[in-house]
Amino acid sequence: MRHRIAVVGGGPAGLAFARVLHRHGHPVTVLERDAARDARPPGGVLDLHEGLGQLALDKAGLLAEFRALSRPEGQAMRILDTDGTVLRDWQPDPDDRANPEIDRGQLRDLLLGPLDVQWGRGVTQVVPGTRDGVLVHFADGRQEAFDLVVGADGAWSRIRPAVSSATPQYTGVTHVETSLDDVDTRHPDLARLIGDGSMAVYGVNRGLVAQRNSGGHVKVYAKFRAPLDWHTNLDLADVEAVRSSLLALFDGWADPVLNLLRHGTAFVHRPLYVLPVSHTWTHVFGVTLLGDAAHLMPPLGAGANLAMLEGAELAESIATGPEDLDETVRAFEEQMWARAGKWAKITTAGLERLVSPDPAEALALFDQVQPS
Ligand SMILES: Cc1cc2nc3c(=O)[nH]c(=O)nc-3n(C[C@H](O)[C@H](O)[C@H](O)COP(=O)(O)OP(=O)(O)OC[C@H]3O[C@@H](n4cnc5c(N)ncnc54)[C@H](O)[C@@H]3O)c2cc1C
Repeated sequence: MRHRIAVVGGGPAGLAFARVLHRHGHPVTVLERDAARDARPPGGVLDLHEGLGQLALDKAGLLAEFRALSRPEGQAMRILDTDGTVLRDWQPDPDDRANPEIDRGQLRDLLLGPLDVQWGRGVTQVVPGTRDGVLVHFADGRQEAFDLVVGADGAWSRIRPAVSSATPQYTGVTHVETSLDDVDTRHPDLARLIGDGSMAVYGVNRGLVAQRNSGGHVKVYAKFRAPLDWHTNLDLADVEAVRSSLLALFDGWADPVLNLLRHGTAFVHRPLYVLPVSHTWTHVFGVTLLGDAAHLMPPLGAGANLAMLEGAELAESIATGPEDLDETVRAFEEQMWARAGKWAKITTAGLERLVSPDPAEALALFDQVQPS
């Protein structure tokens, strides 16, 4: 019997789930709030790990296409002192495929492929246990019933309340993101400073990270510890006011590093929120969560990887596992909770060390995780 399955959210988790089901010929309804695939900028780059995100792509039959699109050289990582001294300059071997980088937009298009996503279908809530199954309520007032609803709708999930009362909490660390275009022709000095991959500078309770995307685009993240309302007297829509405020915050840092902020085009405020480490819930028939909806954690290179692998694994188990859908979902949840809990601990501790009163902690963390 073919179950009526819906996934809410067309991010890395939802698309990996849908794509693997599609590969196995199993129908799935993909419900996405965005009005169209290009409704908003897709964001920066993701590094996909061999045993996580790349494994998910393998399960979707997309590994060869990923290898053709991704940038192994983007794994390069340089760390500078606040005075501009290069402290570490790590270059991957040319055939290193451990964590190549891919633009989020490229990954989304790769996963989308032949999928028939229902765009502009924002979900407001789900009600499990009705006579028809799980009832999905949409922002336009309509309703639809499914046997299984998978919440892959990110940090502020509308599906999560059906299984858990947990809500994201502010970490005390915020990001202000900016970007540079055509960096190789317009800012060659910055292009050299950043190199092929990422460049990071860590100071007391703050850091500046620049990451190269494809096509000469660079994303810059100013990270700092601050109360959530740090910008009360600042108009976040006023680009020059935000720039001045950040330049004041990073005052005294080397000039070439501050040029990342001086040349940034626009600024987006992204406070970092997390769900409790090892977030679990009492199983609810017909509803489950994947990715950030299940285990939002600090952005230290694991979130999208876990989201994709979970999506691929659940889809594979549904398509090839026992006939009992509920048994399949229960087994999947146990496996997801164990792995995500481990990563939530690692990334939470990592954030404490990266944005820390002692900048030497960030360097020590780099030395611990980076192959020499
Ligand atoms: C600065 C930064 C850098 C990062 N770098 C990395 C990295 O290098 N590697 C890595 O693995 N992870 C990284 N992450 C984490 C990663 O971005 C997330 O973990 C990942 O995007 C989670 O995927 P997801 O599909 O669960 O959720 P999302 O990517 O948030 O996707 C959720 C989708 O659901 C849709 N949606 C939301 N609400 C509704 C609704 N009510 N109805 C319908 N649709 C809805 C959204 O529009 C969206 O398309 C980074 C995060 C940040 C902030």
